Amino acid sequence: LPLDTLDLVVLLLLLVGTAAYFTKGSVWGKKQPDNTYKAIGAASKAGKSRNLIEKMDESDKNMVILYGSQTGTAEDYASRLAKEGHARFGLKTMVADLEDYDYENLDTFPSDKVIVFVLATYGEGEPTDNAVEFYEFIYNGEPAFSEDTSEKPLSNLKYVAFGLGNNTYEHYNAMVRRVNEALTKLGAQRIGPAGEGDDGAGTMEEDFLSWKETMWAELKEVMGVEERESAYEPVFSITECSDLTPDDDTVYLGEPNKNHLEGHSVGPYNSHNPFIAPIKLSKELFTVKGRNCLHMDIDLSGSNLTYTTGDHLAVWPTNAGVEVDRLFKVLGMEDKRHNVIDVKGLDSTSKVPFPTPTTYDAIVRYHIEICAPVSRQYIASLATFAPTDAAKEQMTKLGGDKDYFSEFISQRYLNIAQVLEIVAPGQTWSDIPFSIIIEGLNHIRPRYYSISSSSMANNKVPSITAVVESISLPGAPHVLKGVTTNYLLALKQKQHGDPEPDPHGLTYAISGPRNKYDGVHIPVHIRSSNFRLPSDPSKPIIMIGPGTGVAPFRGFVQERAALAEKGESVGKTVLFFGCRKSSEDFLYQDEWKEYAAKLGDAFSLITAFSREGPEKVYVQHRLAENAKEVNELIKQGAYFYVCGDAAHMAREVNTTLGKILASERGLPEEQGHELVKRLRSSNLYQEDVW
Ligand code: FAD
Repeated sequence: LPLDTLDLVVLLLLLVGTAAYFTKGSVWGKKQPDNTYKAIGAASKAGKSRNLIEKMDESDKNMVILYGSQTGTAEDYASRLAKEGHARFGLKTMVADLEDYDYENLDTFPSDKVIVFVLATYGEGEPTDNAVEFYEFIYNGEPAFSEDTSEKPLSNLKYVAFGLGNNTYEHYNAMVRRVNEALTKLGAQRIGPAGEGDDGAGTMEEDFLSWKETMWAELKEVMGVEERESAYEPVFSITECSDLTPDDDTVYLGEPNKNHLEGHSVGPYNSHNPFIAPIKLSKELFTVKGRNCLHMDIDLSGSNLTYTTGDHLAVWPTNAGVEVDRLFKVLGMEDKRHNVIDVKGLDSTSKVPFPTPTTYDAIVRYHIEICAPVSRQYIASLATFAPTDAAKEQMTKLGGDKDYFSEFISQRYLNIAQVLEIVAPGQTWSDIPFSIIIEGLNHIRPRYYSISSSSMANNKVPSITAVVESISLPGAPHVLKGVTTNYLLALKQKQHGDPEPDPHGLTYAISGPRNKYDGVHIPVHIRSSNFRLPSDPSKPIIMIGPGTGVAPFRGFVQERAALAEKGESVGKTVLFFGCRKSSEDFLYQDEWKEYAAKLGDAFSLITAFSREGPEKVYVQHRLAENAKEVNELIKQGAYFYVCGDAAHMAREVNTTLGKILASERGLPEEQGHELVKRLRSSNLYQEDVW
């Protein structure tokens, strides 16, 4: 049939639409009708412009630092760069979350301004949650504009790039590398080297500090600015509200948002709005004194939250009272910690990272990481506020000398209040402006736990398995206590009416702001993951999970056992578990027997107890001993899973598997490793590591 004009028009429109979709940014450089400007994926937030260029114009900025952050470090680096750019070079800086803007108009980014990208790589070369849309827009498997284009649509764009990665992962700093590659292809001009910080080597902070000096030297030339004497300028104004008391119902006492403040906490619950969930059951899993590993069942009924086997539960912690008290004492603020204050950004682009009006106590207890490692740059910035000349000298030395800093602070695991206490014994640091405490310390981040139960029976009650962090270093003045896990331990003690106080005097505001967490509740949300069982249960699986790495595998085995019980055909299910001693930390020792009874011959549990024999034996050794079966199962299409320690175990297991495949198949070792890579890319090798 001949096409009529209308058909032709419709066809043409479809073709143009499809081409524009697949080439994404390749429509840049050509004039777009106004109505084509829209958010990709994300709905524009009401009342907030997603146009970065407009925002910068309105707020008179010439440098924006965009961050892709998961745990808060990239965000912290972004704000440090913004402060420094302004203080040292008079640049008009702003910090922005990558997910708050759209990027279609990057081709019209003014050439007298600059964008700094601070990009963390998450998991296996993935973008952080807040960078997904930007990343898919600019890169999407290959750089946008990968075809040879003589048009360089971003030739006006000047940018700076720093990545945060971990060399123990295969795709080291993939985010910054790929974004940098894409931007370069698109004609953008990078200023300074694309920096890479390495958490795996433990040099992240120093990598950042040395990169930024080279970058500033080049940036100041390009932007035509001079370095100036820098003085501290607060980012936030803090006003005491004498007309309000903590009892007023408009004052946030640690509630995460308005919903919670108003007491009718409503869903949907997500990473911005946690559900205050009751802990249904808590118990100790270790059978040795002095070390703790908690099993907890969390009840999500009454919320929209559900989970799927393999997901993560995010727990929102509260700081230990002893550390909150320490900080107020050393700042000389004990008498005013419960005063009501209003915190405002002094600049229209500075976001206050918690709701206000609030109290100093609520900020420190619920919203900032007061126990985390401190940065050398931050120590240097506090020197001016030292109470004595000796303390000032000491802080300047610590800020300037990386070896001294490492020996005095990093290796002793000191937190900020402990540093201040030790540098000026018996003194209070009352000149420190409270704004610098908010600016310089990260806001508290939820911690993830691999869910250790199967969602099949009940997708409303996830379990977690968390080892309590408590590290005493020889010669160090303090015991490092993990923020979240010790809070969980305190909740467990409360649930059991356990009278034994913490030996290090940790105390918690255990019933939460306005007693909203009373009855043993914690704020949580669910983060979905890609760590998944094969959809066909007859496929064989091999799981490597030493220590708490066994968490998701308890869920996996539970699920396969339930399926077997229902009469489904379940493939070989092999679990490699390792711990110190079978009599101390053999997690779920009795449960495995129950699952074995249901799975029969399909289940094998292979254990490695590192401290029982004359030699240390780890899971990778057991894997090598079972090379033949492992190779056979992989040949049959087995899924291979690794969970737990990223720095050592996961890498060792990866190498061991490559060696096994090579030797069992008579191939050169290199090809064995190549096979592992292929398993990974076809999703048959999955990791859930931290
Ligand atoms: P934190 O206070 O966060 O301290 C953690 C570590 O940071 C310390 O051990 C220390 O090495 C370092 N540190 C902290 N403060 C300082 C300081 N002042 N100076 C120097 N170093 C310092 N954990 C589990 O137990 N079970 C799980 O199933 C599990 N699953 C996870 C899944 C994912 C995807 C991820 C990312 C992590 C998972 N974790 C799991 C780890 C968990 O999220 C937490 O990191 C862990 O429980 C420690 O949290 P914390 O708040 O108690 O310790």
